[in-house]
Amino acid sequence: MAIRFDAAVLRSYEGRFAVEQVALEEGPAPDEVLVRIAGCGMCRTDLAVRGSAGRSPLPAVLGHEGSGVVVETGGPDTRLAVGDHVVLSFDSCGHCRACISGAPAYCDSFAELNLFGGRTTNAARFADAAGIPLAPRWFGQSSFAEYAMVPARNAVRVDPTLPLELLGPLGCGFLTGAGAVLNTFGVVPGDALAVFGAGAVGLAAVMAATAAGAVVLAVDRHPERLATAERFGAVPLYGTGGLADRIKRLTDGGVRYALDTTASPDLINEALRALRPTGHLGLVARLRQSLPLEPGTLDRGRKLSHLCEGDAVPGVLIPRLTALWQAGRFPFDQLIRTYPLDEINEAERDCETGRVVKPVLLPPHRTKEHP
Ligand SMILES: [Zn+2]
Ligand SMILES: [Zn+2]
Repeated sequence: MAIRFDAAVLRSYEGRFAVEQVALEEGPAPDEVLVRIAGCGMCRTDLAVRGSAGRSPLPAVLGHEGSGVVVETGGPDTRLAVGDHVVLSFDSCGHCRACISGAPAYCDSFAELNLFGGRTTNAARFADAAGIPLAPRWFGQSSFAEYAMVPARNAVRVDPTLPLELLGPLGCGFLTGAGAVLNTFGVVPGDALAVFGAGAVGLAAVMAATAAGAVVLAVDRHPERLATAERFGAVPLYGTGGLADRIKRLTDGGVRYALDTTASPDLINEALRALRPTGHLGLVARLRQSLPLEPGTLDRGRKLSHLCEGDAVPGVLIPRLTALWQAGRFPFDQLIRTYPLDEINEAERDCETGRVVKPVLLPPHRTKEHP
């Protein structure tokens, strides 16, 4: 029996989202669960679909920072039960060399599963009210919707006393920033870290580094975003001039780690110049142009790498982040503003202008019958 519910559909790369009825043709496969979405964060990658040069297929239901309650399971293989509270994260195959070595963010099938294709079993099952197939689910979820059918592999069970509707961004944006600090860098008390770009990913990195006892410096063009970074423990650096020298003066010769969320070649070179020998600069945004490196910037053991999803195993890092939140040391909820799903276009505008760090969409659950 088909499951019908409301979802925000994007039909053209320049168009607005529209909330309409969609249908899933059948119930969960043995490794899937159906989740009643409580909230879904909006991430830069959702909006990057518009500029993907048509590579991400439309029409589609986007949204990949969902959280909700399991309402149906495909069976015991899912290890989840009806009523479980879950945070949904990125999809991975579970079988390739990266997955079996604990690095699912570098899954051989990452692009296909999350951005361009989906699991083949799911490909034709998702349709609009007229029966026209929609793009395969996005990041294994498509959570700008009342319900999402997801592989149990990327649904992480969480403590039911937590504020479920706000937890979705722990599956991508906040996971990325915090994971870079806690997993990739393994920041310890006394380390110094510079964060370039104080958006959702950068601010999560600031919070995680502060929680880990590091000295954090934050760079951004927007004074309000820097004020937010300062509120969460960062030394704010205004303006773009002489950043590396300023960072070196403030940190006794340079930082051990830097995280760039801007993909700006100028800022990346400033970040490299601010590194101590053996320091590590992690990039999280996709480069849109070639990156000229100045002679000497990688000398003396300095390292530059691109990081995906904070090098995280979601089932390990998400419970760690909720525990930090419960201890008052990772106040990610303060970065969130909620919107009804109907106001998704306003949420996109506020995200683009930087007025809101992390919009979270709340589906209305107008669909009367339980699917
Ligand atoms: Zn894999
Ligand atoms: Zn994301």
